[in-house]
Amino acid sequence: MRNNTSPIEALQNIFGYAQFRRGQAEIISEILEGRDVLGVMPTGAGKSLCYQIPAIIMGGVSIVLSPLISLMKDQVDALRQNDVRAATINSSMSWDDARDIFTAARRGEVNLLYVAPERLDSGGFRDFLSSVSIPLIVVDEAHCVSQWGHDFRPSYLNIAPTIASMPERPVVAAFTATATPEVRDDIIEQLSLVSPFTLTTGFDRENLFFHVEHQANKLKTLLDYMKKSSDLSGIVYCSTRKAVESVCLSLKESGVNAVRYHAGLDENERLLNQEKFIYDRADVMVATNAFGMGIDKSNVRYVIHYNMPGSIDSYYQEAGRAGRDGSPADCVLLFAARDIATARYLISSGTDEDAKKAGYKKLGAMIDYCNTDGCLRAFILKYFGERGAPEECGSCGSCVSDRERADITIEAQKILSCVYRMAERTGGRQFGSQMLADVLRGSRNESVLSLGFDKISTWGLMKDYSANAIKDMANFLTAEGYLSIGDGNYPTLAFTERTRPFLRSKARLMMRARDDGGNKKQGGIQNRERGTAKFERRRESSNPDLFDELRELRKETAASEGVPPYVVFPDNTLIAMSSQTPLSDDEFLAIPGVGQAKLKKYGKIFCDAIRNWLASKK
Ligand code: ADP
Ligand code: ZN
Repeated sequence: MRNNTSPIEALQNIFGYAQFRRGQAEIISEILEGRDVLGVMPTGAGKSLCYQIPAIIMGGVSIVLSPLISLMKDQVDALRQNDVRAATINSSMSWDDARDIFTAARRGEVNLLYVAPERLDSGGFRDFLSSVSIPLIVVDEAHCVSQWGHDFRPSYLNIAPTIASMPERPVVAAFTATATPEVRDDIIEQLSLVSPFTLTTGFDRENLFFHVEHQANKLKTLLDYMKKSSDLSGIVYCSTRKAVESVCLSLKESGVNAVRYHAGLDENERLLNQEKFIYDRADVMVATNAFGMGIDKSNVRYVIHYNMPGSIDSYYQEAGRAGRDGSPADCVLLFAARDIATARYLISSGTDEDAKKAGYKKLGAMIDYCNTDGCLRAFILKYFGERGAPEECGSCGSCVSDRERADITIEAQKILSCVYRMAERTGGRQFGSQMLADVLRGSRNESVLSLGFDKISTWGLMKDYSANAIKDMANFLTAEGYLSIGDGNYPTLAFTERTRPFLRSKARLMMRARDDGGNKKQGGIQNRERGTAKFERRRESSNPDLFDELRELRKETAASEGVPPYVVFPDNTLIAMSSQTPLSDDEFLAIPGVGQAKLKKYGKIFCDAIRNWLASKK
């Protein structure tokens, strides 16, 4: 039943890509050899092709288990665009409709069948499994099988027994973007994978530009950013429903085509807004973290966090929704010290003490990310335990920053000795950064006086600094590991094992200028614009107005077929098209993302549009 297509021919003729990405060829060849596979690859790495190509080559019906209807629908739409026979059975279907699909599959009309794991419970489905040839079972989002993971789904536990009950054991291929070793081992065990070929590609997402913005006026920063990226697709994440409401309203008032999403809206509005965003009818989605799970929109060009999330894990997952198509995208975090309090409050409202401690620890790493001067990408990769990542990536907000570094050795010494003196005075108690700033600025407020802090030698040592400047430096010292934040319910500062060696060593400490310590000139805006400028350059088509026209054409075409625009062509395909202006079939086929089926379907209308555009330029 196998056909003679080779993987690379399938990649080129069906999917229209010239070469495999990292890891894809190995996984495909292992599956074709009959070996189980576990692929751990970040979002956007191209996991789908790793099983779609073997499924096409092996023939028969390959089953893809996937947790979300929207994901399945997108994948099926995208495959059909390439004339691959794909179908889905989901919970919203009647039994009759499902039976029609089984019948079609038995007749050889379905090559890839996407189903939710809940289906495995039904006797009808089990009968179906033993009535056709099934060479491959794919478990997408395989971390859902693990109780350690953050999206555990009990129905995933049905997968292994179902496979065991099949007349002939298919190859089993599991994929996930979650990399922790516990989850990985758990997947192998829970799915009973047989000596699987395990491939973990790096966690880096090269096309994402990471940036942290320290700005007092977030809304203005946001609006400035929107002006630069006018009708590109983007997500703005806020930590509360209230913030979603007010940010969305402000964006709309400024003429931005934004919609909102949070758990407090009724389901109709949520669905409607989500759809507007996915179909490019709204440019910006303003949402809480309730939005995004199962959203496969590949042309999200930026994700802005209006508030700091509670952990790097959540941050990377949410920010990672940008740039799934591999084209450059921005991940910007707007940091304000007050977000720390909100995040701590959310953790403190839990009841489990161990979970709270773990929560504070994760939050600590998130705060450090916001305050480090070092490479942001390196910080994230180190956090996820990736070894061998370069110290500087050259393309994140820190690496491209031109804010000057100032010598803050003296200030650091004053801050650290103040932390020491306050503890000494109170028999070892620890205090937060507000108290620290009050003492260093020589405040006589009640709590300072009642603790006798006006009598310690560091009182008033930094009168000329704003409280924010002192807090920024304390945050920076924490990010650098010279101070730690305790894991109590209130954030307090304490020495670490690095503090004393640092004080003794007389090493110089340099910190990049922040925005409100009187450094208006080298403020972050400028820095961000440089970052954005870099981003713009990488994104840019050499014919931006043709790119806009082709986007419009894509939107109309997609609407007439009832699929999202990115299913017709991803952004990078349109960018290539508008730059290379193909006019013949061969030229059109040479565009990445154009295979035989899309040439047939869209070659003429897109080449005509390009021809007209060229003529209008003459
Ligand atoms: P994942 O499931 O890992 O998040 P996808 O399978 O959705 O990622 O792939 C992300 C994008 O990369 C898709 O638009 C896909 O068409 C594209 N892609 C995958 N493999 C290649 C390749 N070899 N060359 C070019 N683009 C690719
Ligand atoms: Zn960097």
